[in-house]
Amino acid sequence: MTLAHGYAAQAATLPLAPFDFERRALGASDVAIDILHCGVCHSDLHTARSEWGPTVYPCVPGHEIVGRVTAVGDGVSKFRVGDLVGVGCMVDSCQHCGHCAEGLEQYCDNGFTDTYNGREQVSRANTLGGYSDHIVVHEKFVLRVSHAEEHLAAVAPLLCAGITTYSPLRQWKVGPGHKVGVVGLGGLGHMGVKIAAAMGAHVVLFTTSPGKKDDALRLGAKEVVVSKNEEEMRVHANSFDFILDTVAAPHDLDAFLGLLKLDGTLCLVGVPASPHPSPGVFRLIAKRRRLAGSLIGGIAETQEMLDFCAEHGIVSDIEPIAMAQVNEAYERMLRSDVKYRFVIDMSTLRETAPA
Ligand code: NAP
Ligand code: ZN
Repeated sequence: MTLAHGYAAQAATLPLAPFDFERRALGASDVAIDILHCGVCHSDLHTARSEWGPTVYPCVPGHEIVGRVTAVGDGVSKFRVGDLVGVGCMVDSCQHCGHCAEGLEQYCDNGFTDTYNGREQVSRANTLGGYSDHIVVHEKFVLRVSHAEEHLAAVAPLLCAGITTYSPLRQWKVGPGHKVGVVGLGGLGHMGVKIAAAMGAHVVLFTTSPGKKDDALRLGAKEVVVSKNEEEMRVHANSFDFILDTVAAPHDLDAFLGLLKLDGTLCLVGVPASPHPSPGVFRLIAKRRRLAGSLIGGIAETQEMLDFCAEHGIVSDIEPIAMAQVNEAYERMLRSDVKYRFVIDMSTLRETAPA
């Protein structure tokens, strides 16, 4: 066992605060990683505050982890001490069901192990995430980072926001000639815009924040629509092949379903604490439209996404913060005031570690 320093929520209503805990001893297939940066995902906030059902406390959030390998188990072949690596939303899965065999660990029939607020496969111990100084992970769930080291902090959000948008864009074969909408310009949304643009699609960004228009165009959108403006929305009726909805709050889905053309798909990746109002059936049947969902991405696809982003020079637009600023970052995220991902500089954790 090794002593880890981190930040944890002790209850749904309490702010995150310094917390010490133990990581498991390095197993034969494990990689020990010194965490250098960790992104702040809206899922961290949903979980820290028990918005998706009861969370196990203490809860150490964080699943956009990048760092350096400090030790490897005897059976590890993929990584060496000193490698730059990433860890995303999963740290394990059953590794024997059909979906795991296909590289779709996120749809593991026996339940994958979330990086935090998850259950270890054998011990069933609660997992603790990346708002901490180090982590021990099975090598199969460790990703190789090939971006230049100076971009490492901006690579962290690819481990969740990147793969969660890349996977559905690939699944629905987005590419040149496709008109693609992205709803919400937050952490996921801004990665969705960059990646869909890099795949060659004509990207339209839907936002509730008119002040984000210029940024959306700079990030790769060809058009920006203020979704509260019915006139602006109407212009796009029946015209989209695919729309990716990243919004973290309940909202009217009919407004977006009506923008899809025949056989078009609205894919939900945002997971609000309470349900969206149920969509009207007429919007769906009228043009054989589809309403879908997508969960993160498998390990092989996450590596593919990291390599795709390195090749296309894609990183996240980040605002670096100190560990002690995380509670303030959560409040700003709730106000949609994030440009476009907070990333915690883990060297600042030492300044706040309990004596
Ligand atoms: P975020 O950075 O807070 O971005 C969400 C964006 O949604 C905001 O920036 C805002 O964009 C828009 N928005 C917020 N409130 C809204 C409202 N009331 N009505 C309309 N638009 C609103 O959050 P994130 O980290 O990108 O995460 C987004 C959601 O995806 C969260 O629910 C998260 O838990 C979920 N998630 C899902 C997966 C998955 O596998 N499916 C993975 C990771 C995260 P504008 O200002 O542009 O309107
Ligand atoms: Zn996330």
